[in-house]
Amino acid sequence: MLTRTFHAQAMSVHGVEALEGSLIVCRDKPAAFREYFAMIFRLILPAIIMVMTCSRALAWGQLGHRTIATLALEHLQKNNPAAAAKVKEILAGESIEDASIWPDDVRPNRIKSRSGRFAETEEGKIFNAAHPDNPMWHFVDLPLGSKAYGDKRFSKENDIVETMVKCIDVLEGRSDFMSKRDALRFLLHLAGDVHQPLHAACGFFTFDAEGRATIITDPDEAAADMDGNDSGGNKLLLGSESGATDASPEEADKRLPLHRYWDEHLVVMNAETEAELVAKLRDRVTSFQAVNSGNVRTWPAQWATDSIGVSCKLYGELKYGKRFPRTGKYWTIYLNFQKGTKEKFTGMAGEQLVKATRNLAETLGAIQWK
Ligand SMILES: [Zn+2]
Repeated sequence: MLTRTFHAQAMSVHGVEALEGSLIVCRDKPAAFREYFAMIFRLILPAIIMVMTCSRALAWGQLGHRTIATLALEHLQKNNPAAAAKVKEILAGESIEDASIWPDDVRPNRIKSRSGRFAETEEGKIFNAAHPDNPMWHFVDLPLGSKAYGDKRFSKENDIVETMVKCIDVLEGRSDFMSKRDALRFLLHLAGDVHQPLHAACGFFTFDAEGRATIITDPDEAAADMDGNDSGGNKLLLGSESGATDASPEEADKRLPLHRYWDEHLVVMNAETEAELVAKLRDRVTSFQAVNSGNVRTWPAQWATDSIGVSCKLYGELKYGKRFPRTGKYWTIYLNFQKGTKEKFTGMAGEQLVKATRNLAETLGAIQWK
């Protein structure tokens, strides 16, 4: 099974070859041209490396996940102390914050240095041998025009929603898919991830002869060309189309994949430390109105559906440059924000963290623990 890291790596290799090809062709050209292309190569290479090494699975980073876990347990403690006690009993001494990031810590990666810090521990090796597809559990890629989660052309048996349902089944005693502790760790984590909109719905693109990008939202059109999928915003790079972000370190830092920008930077823009973020979001979690309906097993799908709407707002803010490289199966697009986008995104990320926390707390309260 190809993961997005493998796609990105292949893309990068192709990209580098294409660029090296340009340089070779230039050997017969005047020195000025060679220098020009060498400069372009230098400017673009960091973006290629970034895409090559970026990871899909670190939604919200540690700061976001740990904050969600802290506040969800606090809320549960006040409103359903029996359920809070059950959570603590299953975690058997592990803090809820550590449990919430365990799925990223255990996650294997083909590039060893990108594996989670527990991937090679005895526990990690046993878990990864039993569940080699666990990196796929962190997301689903729904087109922006999807009415709801559930279109089988895009949802999968091992996507984020189905995995959360399996975790609930384990915790309610209907399944031994994994241990109760691992099921709880994944539920804590994935309930956060699914509220990072790029873990639920993302862009699909087509390109004209000049490489100009057009976004596709219609699921039928999107299904016709799965290679147009931007991998949850991992193929969208912040910065100018030329890659000429050498104006300042801050500018250069903007040339991030949009996905990572949402995972990490927007959380930090809400607050830089766990203590600050917890303090900032606490009252908002208490007053948030959760809208989950029906059986708790159907809630993860409801959250993914909600995230489609958030992703639509997110993509509505973006301005797309041309694709790079210009030809071939693999691509990236440089994009720019509109005025005020950064502030809007920071607010949206804060709102999603609140929503994730409250929905997680409600879920832990609704589960029929066995
Ligand atoms: Zn994740």
